[in-house]
Amino acid sequence: MRIGAIEAGGTKFVCGVGNENGVIEDRVSFPTEQPERVMEQVMAYFTGKDVQAIGIGTFGPIDLNPESDSYGCVTTTPKPGWSGFPFLDTLKRAFPVPMGWDTDVNAAAYGEATWGAAKGQDSCVYFTVGTGIGIGVYAEGRLVHGLVHPEGGHMLPRRHPDDGYAGSCPYHGDCLEGLAAGPAIERRWGVKGSELPAEHPAWELEAYYLGQAVATAVLLLSPKRVIMGGGVMHQKQLLPMVRAEVSRSLNQYVSAAPLITGLDQYIVAPALGDNAGLCGALALGLAALERSV
Ligand code: ADP
Ligand code: ZN
Repeated sequence: MRIGAIEAGGTKFVCGVGNENGVIEDRVSFPTEQPERVMEQVMAYFTGKDVQAIGIGTFGPIDLNPESDSYGCVTTTPKPGWSGFPFLDTLKRAFPVPMGWDTDVNAAAYGEATWGAAKGQDSCVYFTVGTGIGIGVYAEGRLVHGLVHPEGGHMLPRRHPDDGYAGSCPYHGDCLEGLAAGPAIERRWGVKGSELPAEHPAWELEAYYLGQAVATAVLLLSPKRVIMGGGVMHQKQLLPMVRAEVSRSLNQYVSAAPLITGLDQYIVAPALGDNAGLCGALALGLAALERSV
C-alpha cells in the first residue's frame, strides 16, 4: 500500500510516501513559502507516485467542518498568502484520491496513537513545543474537533513570580505560547533556547508553564497518555522537570495510578520522534482510505 503524507509546518513542508505499517519510505522537504509555490512542489512530488490516499496535517487555524464553505482552507493565519487558501481542494483537483485533513498536532496525536507512544490507548494529548505551542487531542478513539479545533497553546497559565517577561503572543501576550514557545525563551533570555545550558533557570520557568498546561489537560480531558514533542523538548532535562511540576500541581488530587506512581510512562516523548507529524499525516491518509471503501 502506498499512502501519501504531508506535514505542513509554519517553517517547512514535508511530503512523504509510506505504508500501512507507518513506515515512511521516501520524503522531501522545502520551505513554507507562498502557497502557489509550495503547491507546485507538492504536486511535482506526488505526480507519478501512485498513492492510494493522502493525509495532511497542517499548521492552522484551519476549517475542519465538512458543512462549511471554507472546509479544507487555512483560515486566519498571518502567513503571507495562506489566509483563506483552499489547501484541500487544490490537492483534490490534482489527485482524486481519498484525503485525510487535520491540524498538525491532531495528526501527531493520531500517529502516536496508531503506531507510537499511545498505541493501544483510546486517548492521548500531544503537545508540540516549538516555534509555537500546539495541543492535539485524541479522545475515545477519535480526534477532537468541536467548534473549530482545540487551540490549547493559547491557554492562560498562572505567571511565575520571578518572570518579568511580558510574553510574545500577538493576540494574548502572556498565554502559554507567548511565555513558553521557542521564540519566547529566546526573547526572554536573549539567546536561543538551544544555547542555554541544562542548569539555566530558563528551564525551571519553562517546566513551570508546561507543567501547568499538562495538568490542565489532565484535568480537562483525562487523557490516558501525554506526549511532548517539538524542538524545545530536545532539552532532555525538561521532561522530568515537567513531570515534577505536574505532580506538584495536581497534588495527588486525581486518583489514577499513572499520575501517582507512573508519570515516567504517562508523560513521554514521542515514540515516533521527529517523524510524529509525518507518520500522523500517513495515519490520516490511511484512515481516509479505510473510510472510502
Ligand atoms: P517548528 O515549531 O517550527 O515546526 P521545531 O519544533 O523544531 O519547529 O521548533 C523550533 C523552535 O524550537 C525554535 O524556537 C528553536 O529555538 C527551538 N529549539 C530547537 N531546538 C532546541 C533545543 N535543542 N533546545 C531548546 N530550544 C530548541
Ligand atoms: Zn496566544
